[in-house]
Amino acid sequence: MINIALMCCVYNAWSLSSKSESPMALPLTYLSHYPQHLQDQVAQLVDANKLGEWLRARYPQVHNINNDKTLRDYAMTIKNQYMKKTPPLSKVIYDSKIHIVNHALGLHSYVSRVQGGKLKSKNELRVSELFKNTPQAFLTMIVVHELAHLKEKDHNKAFYQLCRHMLPDYHQIEFDVRVYLTELENTGYVFVPPTA
Ligand SMILES: [Zn+2]
Repeated sequence: MINIALMCCVYNAWSLSSKSESPMALPLTYLSHYPQHLQDQVAQLVDANKLGEWLRARYPQVHNINNDKTLRDYAMTIKNQYMKKTPPLSKVIYDSKIHIVNHALGLHSYVSRVQGGKLKSKNELRVSELFKNTPQAFLTMIVVHELAHLKEKDHNKAFYQLCRHMLPDYHQIEFDVRVYLTELENTGYVFVPPTA
């Protein structure tokens, strides 16, 4: 008997752009929950073709935590520092599909199965491949978000407190991540040019 519980997240709720009525309308779908004046600022940068430049100036460096082993080490370091008492993580990996299939940037899955009369459970943490070759703060934000779910299942006040405890700029960085995704969707690359 197997029981799998999947926990989301980070942008499950962000509807991916439904086809826009007007082809010229800028689909700021990743930012639709932010105040209009912030959306306007981003839209102006998109119009002026300057959003990528803005992001690269703000985050001049990318991390090199680009494989599953270094990702696991990185997540474990944060977990051991802030969330030591939470259940162990059996797997930490980059995932190339969750962005498309689950509309998620990170995923925390909790798998429990009955094996030989005993209940065994496993926690897994997946990070979208979109976070390879990005500023380290972006990767940290996703990892922190999913780690916080080990303790708080919902996106409630306690959850975000925990996120800010691990990453004080959590909210600002989440905004910047959404700006990054906007630019990525519009132009195909932001920090590292695609390899041929
Ligand atoms: Zn979440």
